[in-house]
Amino acid sequence: MILIQDEYSVRQPLKAVFPGKYIQGKKALTELKYLTESFGNRGLLLASPSVITHVLPKYQFENGWDWIHVDTFRGECCREELERLDAIIRHDKTDVIVAMGGGKVIDTAKIVADTTGIPVIIVPTIASSDAPCSGCAVIYSRDGIFEGVYYLKMNPQAVLVDESVIAQAPTRFLVSGMGDALATWFEARSCKSSGSANECGGYATHTAMAIAHLCYKTLLKYGVQAKKDCDLFVTSEALSAVIEANILMSGLGFESCGLASAHSIHNGLTVLEETHSFYHGEKVAFGVLAGLHLTGAPLSEKEKVYDFCEAVGLPTTFDDLDLGGVSRERLMEAAVKTCHPTEAVHHEVKSVDPEKILIAMKAADAYGRKRKA
Ligand SMILES: [Zn+2]
Repeated sequence: MILIQDEYSVRQPLKAVFPGKYIQGKKALTELKYLTESFGNRGLLLASPSVITHVLPKYQFENGWDWIHVDTFRGECCREELERLDAIIRHDKTDVIVAMGGGKVIDTAKIVADTTGIPVIIVPTIASSDAPCSGCAVIYSRDGIFEGVYYLKMNPQAVLVDESVIAQAPTRFLVSGMGDALATWFEARSCKSSGSANECGGYATHTAMAIAHLCYKTLLKYGVQAKKDCDLFVTSEALSAVIEANILMSGLGFESCGLASAHSIHNGLTVLEETHSFYHGEKVAFGVLAGLHLTGAPLSEKEKVYDFCEAVGLPTTFDDLDLGGVSRERLMEAAVKTCHPTEAVHHEVKSVDPEKILIAMKAADAYGRKRKA
């Protein structure tokens, strides 16, 4: 008997993950007290110092912020900080944790909620990446060196996004989030074409693929206007759509469809010190462009993605990433890191090696420079 394995029987099981609840709106923070109290009555709010200074005073509940214990985040998602919060939660019998701030505050709260078995509510104050909805977090050393990824048992119980707060943050965060979100559809498509697993240990559902595609379409439709509105600190339909793309669509899309070359090229670029001052999504965006050259995307698609990156101010050349004049040897170091056996670059349809990555990065830069000339 000849056993023919079709696509259906090979790509099993399908898996998708979601946050329990997603709330987004102009004054969404006014819902925080009610939302928190629906999970418990001994809450802990972990907030970055800038959030405590600039955001909390603008939102006064009946008793100010007395209804929740406010704790200042110490700056790094590291073992010491996790142990400190773990001890507070166990000592105070905290039954719900709220994280308000950027990626590191969010990741710290997610992990400590997981280790202590309490629900977590995520309140991102910037839309710079798709981390808020996801079920994973990155742990660093006290000095900020990457240590590993922590996988949670569950995605956050709730994500609450206040558009007015995001609109007040520097536009560069929003643009970086668009870079991260830009990768979602291309990486989803690669995983689907190559039959690669997603980030939750299964294969993409039709639902997740549709969300990933909607993410891309939303950026193209609203990205430029959202940037302009954010520059003026105003909330708008376009900004709202892009916040949803950056946080919800990209979050669901990357986890439930999978990653590929864009994020691996980002990881490769991190070995080059010059890129350290650039945000995650900015490097990912360049990874998308290099990925288009790597996979031989049609010219019309390349044009569309370069047009978008140039219009919103995402990097399209080495110069834009402070890598002008970088040597072949150093680029090769990044390419080698990109192709590490554990990297998602191997989710691309065709096999890759450092030489091919190097050529793709150089092609992305050359094309970007030609367009600017
Ligand atoms: Zn990302």
